Amino acid sequence: MTGQGSDVRCERVVKIHRLGDQDVPALAGLDMTAAAGEILGVVGPSGCGKSTLLNVIGGLCDVTSGRAFVSGVDVSSLRGGKLGRFRRDTIGFVWQEASSNLLAHLSVLENVMVPLWLQRSRRGSKVNAASHAHTVLGALGVGELATARPHQLSGGQQQRVAVAVALAASPSLLLADEPTGALDARSALDVYAALRSAREEFGVTVIVVSHDDGLGRYCDRVVELRDGQTAAERSVSGVGPVAGSVLLIDSTGRIRLPDDVRQALNGTERVVVRITPDQQITLRAAEPIPASDLPGDSA
Ligand code: ADP
Ligand code: MG
Repeated sequence: MTGQGSDVRCERVVKIHRLGDQDVPALAGLDMTAAAGEILGVVGPSGCGKSTLLNVIGGLCDVTSGRAFVSGVDVSSLRGGKLGRFRRDTIGFVWQEASSNLLAHLSVLENVMVPLWLQRSRRGSKVNAASHAHTVLGALGVGELATARPHQLSGGQQQRVAVAVALAASPSLLLADEPTGALDARSALDVYAALRSAREEFGVTVIVVSHDDGLGRYCDRVVELRDGQTAAERSVSGVGPVAGSVLLIDSTGRIRLPDDVRQALNGTERVVVRITPDQQITLRAAEPIPASDLPGDSA
């Protein structure tokens, strides 16, 4: 059972949040892509813009400038009913807090059926919601929990059910914001495995955010965010398009040097770039500007 996952493309996305009379920059000209059916991990320190990025892609937050495309649709251009349908039919969200993902007074099965009820006007009565919900739960290895209530589940089980809820309406893009943030390492692995099943069984594209580097093993590719921009990327599973760790050059030509490279340059703010005939490119700290060449106010 596979569908067609969305491809995602962010072009120079800038997002500045307003907090009272303060401007808080969250995304600073971010470029990023995810291929259809890819599992992309996004890591980076707290405050680097991970949640804002998912909210922009999922149509929950507008952009200050730049554009985000999902399956070729410019999300920032969607309004009203079109935006609502995009969120309902194209995107599945998984949040860190189980209470944001699951309704406490419904059974696991009913939780997975809710998105189908919301979609019923579009699909008529053809879809047998309960049987579809059972199929999704089974595919994620939590079929036996169907009659349980959320409070009877472990944190890891709740989050795997949350993945099922996010998949219920057959989205093409799953966005998971720190889905393992409140879990122990063992349960986190189960949730990552469920995200992989989501891709294998339903063909969705998955973008999963974490501050935990361990998610790399479950992703095709991991991009690292720093200060609202993609700084580096690596392929851990070996299936993605890059091997090892590479730095990303944004559409304006900027690179963010890793901390160890900056240290090796002795903290200089100026470098000399050399390209050898065999295309090796080196950086070295520039010589200090002689004091006599600096503009001064003494004659
Ligand atoms: P992360 O998920 O990586 O921790 P966020 O995207 O949540 O990062 O936040 C990026 C920056 O934007 C932070 O400085 C954060 O304080 C700020 N921010 C996020 N959401 C809002 C908001 N709704 N209002 C004001 N500032 C926000
Ligand atoms: Mg966040």
